[in-house]
Amino acid sequence: MTSWSCSFCGQQGSAETRLAGGLGAMICTDCLSYYTSAVEAAEDGEQLVTPGWDRLTDAEMLGTLPKIAADAAQVDRFLRQWVSLIRERRISYAEIGKALGVSRQAAWERFSRVVDVQDDDDARSGTA
Ligand SMILES: [Zn+2]
Repeated sequence: MTSWSCSFCGQQGSAETRLAGGLGAMICTDCLSYYTSAVEAAEDGEQLVTPGWDRLTDAEMLGTLPKIAADAAQVDRFLRQWVSLIRERRISYAEIGKALGVSRQAAWERFSRVVDVQDDDDARSGTA
């Protein structure tokens, strides 16, 4: 089973590192505490998009790349889980494609193999 990780620092969730989140993005209690304080201390209208990233060394920037890639994979895993929930409601790939701004065929090709494992009729024909 793949565990979730903090989308802010990359720390894996565990009994000691609890996570909260939704829509594929997760946050650990350390980051939640840090960002709560930072947001409360921010000036009106100030956005906290890059917390000191401009001060990282080149090695630190490169070391962050795998964390970002892992987060993208986590969001993609959540997207597949979400589409699976939608498919359990018998909502068609035409509707899923419309919501994502792609064709029914594109939605089916992207998700049917990983989502519809027990939905043989739809998976074979691609007609749902
Ligand atoms: Zn974190």
